Amino acid sequence: MRVNLLLALACLLFLAGNVLARDTAPLQVNAPSSVAVGDPFTVSVRTDLSLKAVEIAWLGERVRLSLHRSNATREGKIILGTEVGEDKPGTRWIGIRPLDGKGLVHKRRVRVRGKDFPSQHLSLPEGSVTLSQSQLKRYRKDKRAIGAALSSRAGERSWSNSFLWPVNGEITSTYGLDRILNGQPRSPHRGIDVAVPSGTPVRAMESGKVALTGEFLFEGKAVFIDHGMGVISMYFHLSSISAEQGDRLKRGEVIGRSGVSGRTSGPHLHFGLSVLDRLVNPLPLLGDESARQSY
Ligand SMILES: [Zn+2]
Repeated sequence: MRVNLLLALACLLFLAGNVLARDTAPLQVNAPSSVAVGDPFTVSVRTDLSLKAVEIAWLGERVRLSLHRSNATREGKIILGTEVGEDKPGTRWIGIRPLDGKGLVHKRRVRVRGKDFPSQHLSLPEGSVTLSQSQLKRYRKDKRAIGAALSSRAGERSWSNSFLWPVNGEITSTYGLDRILNGQPRSPHRGIDVAVPSGTPVRAMESGKVALTGEFLFEGKAVFIDHGMGVISMYFHLSSISAEQGDRLKRGEVIGRSGVSGRTSGPHLHFGLSVLDRLVNPLPLLGDESARQSY
């Protein structure tokens, strides 16, 4: 009898301890404490509570993160990032709020570190640098269409591993390059340029839905793919497009062929990645060089 009582007491204490532990840490958040400007990073949220989703707040943007059951816990992952030339170094906060209306907002501090990016001097004929009235009109229209595509927050995260290289080639312009065009400073390079001959098949870095295709003044023939939760990949200067807006694509599916359309000094693929409306460096999320497929 005494043994049973002791056992019951031990059980009660154990349960109380568990409740206490849960109350003090209902959400476990994993995020880096420091990141370089432009580098995307992953944040994971875990909980023992029966929460279906949380809301993540980052640099004025909000997005819903679904939590999926994994054994006795629920968990979810999201990619966040900053944009070179837009986001300044300093202390920033990630807000995590349970979506059932209960519980407090959790905050995680992230230090955004400055980074020195190399400069690139470019020379283009003056006529292609200064925009005419009609080009300016077209540029504004392009900007609106692209802005609408990049503002999508729809869908679920449908990937788990690193992304696929859209083409196999050497990187000729890295992310963050300070570009000086005909002696004038321009916005930094917000993507990577991969040198490939015109006509090279370009593949979707991950499964997703085609958010926008078209021919734009600077980007040339371009495809934008929405991978869910504010992650959109983009492929510029194509010679042809074989995907249509609304198409659902599988990872590695060909979306077009590389080329020299739009404003470019030679054949290459400009590959960009937008995360919650910020153009981040896609490189840290691509599989390592040895994982590149021989297309
Ligand atoms: Zn580029």
